Amino acid sequence: MRLLLVEDEPDIQSFLKSSLSEAGYQVEAAADGKSASQLAVDGQFDILIVDLGLPDQDGISLILKLRQLGVSAPVLILSARRSVDDRVRGLEQGGDDYLTKPFALAELLARLRNLLKRNSPPGSEATRLRVLDLELDLLRREATRAGQLLQLTPQEFVLLEYLCRNAGRVVTRSMILDQVWGMRIQPDTNVVDVHIYRLRGKVDGLGQQPLIRTLRGVGYVLKDR
Ligand code: CA
Repeated sequence: MRLLLVEDEPDIQSFLKSSLSEAGYQVEAAADGKSASQLAVDGQFDILIVDLGLPDQDGISLILKLRQLGVSAPVLILSARRSVDDRVRGLEQGGDDYLTKPFALAELLARLRNLLKRNSPPGSEATRLRVLDLELDLLRREATRAGQLLQLTPQEFVLLEYLCRNAGRVVTRSMILDQVWGMRIQPDTNVVDVHIYRLRGKVDGLGQQPLIRTLRGVGYVLKDR
Protein backbone atom coordinates (compact mmCIF):
# COMPACT_ATOMS: atom_id res chain seq x y z
CA MET A 1 0.00 0.00 0.00
CA ARG A 2 1.43 3.33 -1.06
CA LEU A 3 0.88 6.15 1.38
CA LEU A 4 1.61 9.85 0.96
CA LEU A 5 2.30 11.62 4.22
CA VAL A 6 2.03 15.41 4.15
CA GLU A 7 3.38 16.76 7.42
CA ASP A 8 5.77 19.63 8.02
CA GLU A 9 6.65 18.96 11.64
CA PRO A 10 9.93 17.00 11.35
CA ASP A 11 9.47 14.96 14.54
CA ILE A 12 5.96 13.84 13.68
CA GLN A 13 6.95 13.21 10.09
CA SER A 14 9.84 10.95 10.96
CA PHE A 15 7.90 9.18 13.71
CA LEU A 16 5.02 8.48 11.33
CA LYS A 17 7.30 7.53 8.49
CA SER A 18 8.99 4.82 10.51
CA SER A 19 5.85 3.59 12.28
CA LEU A 20 3.87 3.40 9.06
CA SER A 21 6.70 1.65 7.22
CA GLU A 22 6.85 -0.84 10.05
CA ALA A 23 3.11 -1.34 9.66
CA GLY A 24 3.72 -2.31 6.04
CA TYR A 25 3.03 0.91 4.18
CA GLN A 26 5.29 2.19 1.45
CA VAL A 27 5.59 5.77 2.66
CA GLU A 28 6.56 8.91 0.79
CA ALA A 29 6.63 12.14 2.73
CA ALA A 30 6.25 15.79 1.80
CA ALA A 31 6.61 18.80 4.09
CA ASP A 32 4.67 21.33 2.04
CA GLY A 33 1.72 21.55 -0.30
CA LYS A 34 3.66 22.11 -3.48
CA SER A 35 5.85 19.03 -3.23
CA ALA A 36 2.85 17.05 -2.02
CA SER A 37 0.87 17.90 -5.18
CA GLN A 38 3.83 16.97 -7.33
CA LEU A 39 4.24 13.61 -5.59
CA ALA A 40 0.52 12.88 -5.61
CA VAL A 41 0.25 13.48 -9.34
CA ASP A 42 3.41 11.57 -10.28
CA GLY A 43 2.89 8.60 -8.04
CA GLN A 44 -0.17 6.48 -7.50
CA PHE A 45 -1.05 6.47 -3.83
CA ASP A 46 -3.63 4.29 -2.14
CA ILE A 47 -4.12 6.65 0.76
CA LEU A 48 -2.99 10.07 2.01
CA ILE A 49 -2.43 11.60 5.42
CA VAL A 50 -2.63 15.40 5.33
CA ASP A 51 -1.77 17.86 8.06
CA LEU A 52 -3.80 21.08 7.87
CA GLY A 53 -1.16 23.57 8.97
CA LEU A 54 1.37 23.51 6.14
CA PRO A 55 3.98 26.21 5.54
CA ASP A 56 2.89 27.21 2.03
CA GLN A 57 -0.82 26.52 1.98
CA ASP A 58 -3.70 25.27 4.02
CA GLY A 59 -4.18 21.50 4.01
CA ILE A 60 -7.80 21.95 2.94
CA SER A 61 -6.76 23.88 -0.19
CA LEU A 62 -4.25 21.15 -0.91
CA ILE A 63 -6.94 18.45 -0.68
CA LEU A 64 -9.24 20.46 -2.96
CA LYS A 65 -6.44 20.86 -5.47
CA LEU A 66 -5.61 17.14 -5.38
CA ARG A 67 -9.26 16.26 -5.98
CA GLN A 68 -9.28 18.61 -8.99
CA LEU A 69 -6.21 16.85 -10.28
CA GLY A 70 -8.06 13.57 -10.14
CA VAL A 71 -6.43 12.16 -7.02
CA SER A 72 -9.23 10.00 -5.66
CA ALA A 73 -7.41 8.11 -2.90
CA PRO A 74 -8.91 8.51 0.58
CA VAL A 75 -7.49 11.31 2.69
CA LEU A 76 -7.09 11.19 6.45
CA ILE A 77 -6.72 14.67 7.90
CA LEU A 78 -4.37 14.83 10.84
CA SER A 79 -4.54 18.13 12.63
CA ALA A 80 -4.11 19.97 15.87
CA ARG A 81 -7.27 21.91 15.06
CA ARG A 82 -9.87 20.35 17.27
CA SER A 83 -12.97 22.49 16.85
CA VAL A 84 -16.15 20.99 15.46
CA ASP A 85 -16.12 23.65 12.73
CA ASP A 86 -12.66 22.63 11.59
CA ARG A 87 -13.56 18.96 11.54
CA VAL A 88 -16.78 19.53 9.62
CA ARG A 89 -15.02 21.79 7.16
CA GLY A 90 -12.27 19.21 6.63
CA LEU A 91 -14.73 16.41 6.02
CA GLU A 92 -16.92 18.50 3.75
CA GLN A 93 -14.03 19.61 1.60
CA GLY A 94 -12.63 16.31 0.52
CA GLY A 95 -11.23 14.71 3.65
CA ASP A 96 -12.51 11.19 4.35
CA ASP A 97 -11.63 11.05 8.01
CA TYR A 98 -10.27 13.40 10.65
CA LEU A 99 -7.97 12.64 13.54
CA THR A 100 -6.78 15.27 16.00
CA LYS A 101 -3.29 15.60 17.44
CA PRO A 102 -2.10 14.28 19.76
CA PHE A 103 -3.18 10.89 18.53
CA ALA A 104 -2.58 7.26 19.39
CA LEU A 105 -0.72 5.34 16.71
CA ALA A 106 -3.05 2.34 17.11
CA GLU A 107 -6.04 4.53 16.36
CA LEU A 108 -4.37 6.06 13.31
CA LEU A 109 -3.59 2.60 11.94
CA ALA A 110 -7.14 1.40 12.56
CA ARG A 111 -8.58 4.41 10.75
CA LEU A 112 -6.26 3.91 7.78
CA ARG A 113 -7.35 0.27 7.50
CA ASN A 114 -11.00 1.31 7.59
CA LEU A 115 -10.54 3.91 4.89
CA LEU A 116 -8.71 1.45 2.66
CA LYS A 117 -11.40 -1.18 3.15
CA ARG A 118 -14.14 1.30 2.29
CA ASN A 119 -12.33 2.47 -0.84
CA SER A 120 -11.16 -0.72 -2.48
CA PRO A 121 -13.30 -1.76 -5.41
CA PRO A 122 -11.57 -4.94 -6.61
CA GLY A 123 -10.22 -4.72 -10.17
CA SER A 124 -10.77 -1.08 -9.58
CA GLU A 125 -11.29 1.71 -12.06
CA ALA A 126 -8.92 3.80 -9.97
CA THR A 127 -6.05 2.17 -11.84
CA ARG A 128 -7.56 2.78 -15.27
CA LEU A 129 -8.85 5.75 -17.19
CA ARG A 130 -10.97 5.37 -20.28
CA VAL A 131 -12.09 8.04 -22.73
CA LEU A 132 -13.83 6.65 -25.82
CA ASP A 133 -11.35 4.16 -27.32
CA LEU A 134 -8.41 5.62 -25.42
CA GLU A 135 -7.35 3.70 -22.34
CA LEU A 136 -4.70 4.44 -19.72
CA ASP A 137 -3.33 1.85 -17.33
CA LEU A 138 -2.11 4.02 -14.47
CA LEU A 139 -0.16 1.26 -12.75
CA ARG A 140 1.75 0.08 -15.80
CA ARG A 141 1.90 3.63 -17.21
CA GLU A 142 0.70 2.37 -20.57
CA ALA A 143 -1.77 3.92 -22.96
CA THR A 144 -3.66 2.26 -25.78
CA ARG A 145 -5.91 3.61 -28.47
CA ALA A 146 -8.35 1.14 -30.02
CA GLY A 147 -6.27 -1.59 -28.40
CA GLN A 148 -3.00 -0.39 -29.96
CA LEU A 149 -0.20 0.41 -27.54
CA LEU A 150 1.02 4.01 -27.83
CA GLN A 151 4.75 4.64 -27.49
CA LEU A 152 4.70 7.55 -25.05
CA THR A 153 7.49 9.13 -23.07
CA PRO A 154 6.80 9.38 -19.30
CA GLN A 155 6.13 13.11 -19.70
CA GLU A 156 3.68 12.50 -22.54
CA PHE A 157 1.90 9.93 -20.42
CA VAL A 158 1.47 12.44 -17.58
CA LEU A 159 0.18 15.03 -20.05
CA LEU A 160 -2.28 12.56 -21.57
CA GLU A 161 -3.40 11.47 -18.11
CA TYR A 162 -4.11 15.10 -17.22
CA LEU A 163 -6.11 15.59 -20.43
CA CYS A 164 -8.05 12.37 -19.75
CA ARG A 165 -8.88 13.38 -16.21
CA ASN A 166 -10.29 16.60 -17.63
CA ALA A 167 -11.88 15.06 -20.73
CA GLY A 168 -14.58 17.27 -22.20
CA ARG A 169 -13.25 20.32 -20.37
CA VAL A 170 -10.95 23.00 -21.71
CA VAL A 171 -7.51 23.11 -20.15
CA THR A 172 -5.38 26.17 -20.76
CA ARG A 173 -1.65 26.23 -21.40
CA SER A 174 -0.96 27.70 -17.99
CA MET A 175 -3.07 24.99 -16.31
CA ILE A 176 -1.02 22.36 -18.13
CA LEU A 177 2.26 24.06 -17.25
CA ASP A 178 1.25 24.28 -13.65
CA GLN A 179 -0.29 20.83 -13.26
CA VAL A 180 1.88 18.72 -15.54
CA TRP A 181 5.24 20.45 -15.22
CA GLY A 182 4.55 21.47 -11.66
CA MET A 183 5.99 24.93 -12.10
CA ARG A 184 5.37 28.21 -13.73
CA ILE A 185 7.56 28.67 -16.74
CA GLN A 186 7.51 31.96 -18.67
CA PRO A 187 4.15 32.25 -20.39
CA ASP A 188 5.83 32.63 -23.77
CA THR A 189 7.29 29.14 -23.63
CA ASN A 190 6.05 26.74 -26.26
CA VAL A 191 6.83 23.58 -24.30
CA VAL A 192 3.13 22.73 -24.02
CA ASP A 193 2.47 23.18 -27.73
CA VAL A 194 5.48 21.07 -28.62
CA HIS A 195 4.40 18.24 -26.32
CA ILE A 196 0.78 18.41 -27.46
CA TYR A 197 1.97 18.29 -31.07
CA ARG A 198 3.99 15.12 -30.43
CA LEU A 199 1.28 13.58 -28.29
CA ARG A 200 -1.31 14.26 -30.96
CA GLY A 201 0.87 12.55 -33.55
CA LYS A 202 0.80 9.41 -31.41
CA VAL A 203 -2.77 9.50 -30.12
CA ASP A 204 -4.47 10.77 -33.24
CA GLY A 205 -2.17 9.22 -35.82
CA LEU A 206 -3.13 6.60 -38.39
CA GLY A 207 -6.24 8.36 -39.64
CA GLN A 208 -8.14 7.94 -36.40
CA GLN A 209 -10.82 10.35 -35.32
CA PRO A 210 -8.90 13.20 -33.66
CA LEU A 211 -9.39 13.37 -29.91
CA ILE A 212 -7.13 16.28 -28.98
CA ARG A 213 -8.68 19.57 -30.08
CA THR A 214 -6.96 22.95 -30.06
CA LEU A 215 -9.01 25.97 -29.12
CA ARG A 216 -7.03 28.83 -30.59
CA GLY A 217 -5.75 31.23 -27.98
CA VAL A 218 -7.45 29.30 -25.20
CA GLY A 219 -6.03 25.83 -24.78
CA TYR A 220 -6.90 22.23 -25.46
CA VAL A 221 -9.69 19.81 -24.88
CA LEU A 222 -9.73 16.03 -25.07
CA LYS A 223 -12.98 15.06 -26.72
CA ASP A 224 -15.08 12.63 -24.74
CA ARG A 225 -17.86 12.09 -27.27
CA1 CA B 1 1.83 21.50 10.62
